[in-house]
Amino acid sequence: MPKAKISPDIRKGAEALATLAAEGTTLCNLWPTLGLWEVEKADGRRYIIDPGEGTCTCPAGKHNHTCKHLRAVWLLEKVLG
Ligand SMILES: [Zn+2]
Repeated sequence: MPKAKISPDIRKGAEALATLAAEGTTLCNLWPTLGLWEVEKADGRRYIIDPGEGTCTCPAGKHNHTCKHLRAVWLLEKVLG
C-alpha cells in the first residue's frame, strides 16, 4: 500500500469538518460566483465565510482567528477543486 502524506492543513480541515458534522452544522456553497460559503448552526445561527479573503462572520472569525468554518471550507474547496 502506498502511503500518502497528509499535510497539517488537510488534517486541521478534516478535524474541523468532523466537528461541524458532530454539531449538526451545515455548510452551503452559497454564491459560487462570489466564492462565498454559508454555515448554518443547529440553533439556526448563520455565518458567511469568504475563503479567498480568509474571513468568517462568526465570533472567532471576527477576532481574526482562523476558525473551524474557514478551515473546513478551505479543505472542501481543495477537494471539490
Ligand atoms: Zn467561523
